[in-house]
Amino acid sequence: MRHEVVVVRCEDYGHLPEALTEGLAELGGAGRFFGPGERIFLKPNILGSHSPEEAVTTHPSLVEHMARAIREVGVEVVVGDSPGVGVPFTRSGLARAYTKTGIGEAAGRAGASLNYDTSYGEASLGGRLVGRANLLRAALRADGVVNLPKAKTHTFTLLTASIKNLFGLVPGMEKTGYHAKLKDVGRFSQMLVDIAGFVRPRLTILDAVVGMEGNGPSGGRPRPIGALLLGEDPNAVDVALCHILGLDPLVVPTIRAAAEGGFDPDGVKLIGDEVRTEGFILPESWGRGVPGGFLGRLVLPLVRDALTARPLVDPYKCTGCGTCARACPEGAISVTSGRAEIDRKLCIRCYCCQEVCTEGAVRIRKGWLQGRTT
Ligand code: SF4
Ligand code: SF4
Repeated sequence: MRHEVVVVRCEDYGHLPEALTEGLAELGGAGRFFGPGERIFLKPNILGSHSPEEAVTTHPSLVEHMARAIREVGVEVVVGDSPGVGVPFTRSGLARAYTKTGIGEAAGRAGASLNYDTSYGEASLGGRLVGRANLLRAALRADGVVNLPKAKTHTFTLLTASIKNLFGLVPGMEKTGYHAKLKDVGRFSQMLVDIAGFVRPRLTILDAVVGMEGNGPSGGRPRPIGALLLGEDPNAVDVALCHILGLDPLVVPTIRAAAEGGFDPDGVKLIGDEVRTEGFILPESWGRGVPGGFLGRLVLPLVRDALTARPLVDPYKCTGCGTCARACPEGAISVTSGRAEIDRKLCIRCYCCQEVCTEGAVRIRKGWLQGRTT
């Protein structure tokens, strides 16, 4: 797999078609990656039912123009995702998300179909941590996958970009189960790398035209970054994003997990435009982390509030909808008298509640010894 990443400056979505054409040409053209008669699954980030301006989901323009580009070489295109746990993984839940994100219309304009098949099959990942996992059948049956992530911060994994986007191939609420089983961000990230290693997308094209900073993946602020990033290796694309944002790649848990498995971040070569983003804001949850190993597990309950950020419910914003309680892998949230309450002793700091709350009612309170890694 090639470790070159093509960076094309793209300041707004009006210029995305030309930027995409330029990037694909630099890689040798769409015909290098796809052949006539193939069926390709396009995997944008459809975290939830958000409008494109919120910068939570992959912009519909990228979905439309990538679908057009690969249909031109005689490929059948299916667009799909299993959204975050805040969206029911049902036909109607998917329909709402496709409509609100603009991705449904974009796929239609490009002559691509939308996936409504919620069935899944077991895949033999053979990863360093995860041997088998259930993944969407529509993706497993396709001849290949094209990864179309969004560049965002993430309160649990620091960044969500190319590697994390493929976690959306895990069906519906099964995602919550991984948070419950793999509470440590390092192990969780290794699972993400294992899934990406199995999927091996033909191509990854990262929407970093407008990304998200702060408390992403849904509660942060849109942040213009001004680039499309294209590459064959999703790990390499994430390393390239770090260079643009001024982040040490090895601070990102998924890149660190990939590096432990032999991936060399220093071997990534950026080609094309020079793009830099100054003062990119990281999530408030991000800090020096907690001690690992047996000792760490022993002392963690005593020092957790000091070392880690915790979620807090704003009673003035909370509507009592219960979405966060359904998403919580530890059953730490109850809704009483129309307001959510979090049991701090049960909370594992996965921040799924903050991710799924569309009211912005879950805030992050930093620990007083938390510090910053960058
Ligand atoms: S915190 Fe958000 S998701 Fe949870 S019940 Fe309140 S409004 Fe709903
Ligand atoms: S309360 Fe929120 S952060 Fe804590 S375990 Fe539940 S979903 Fe995760």
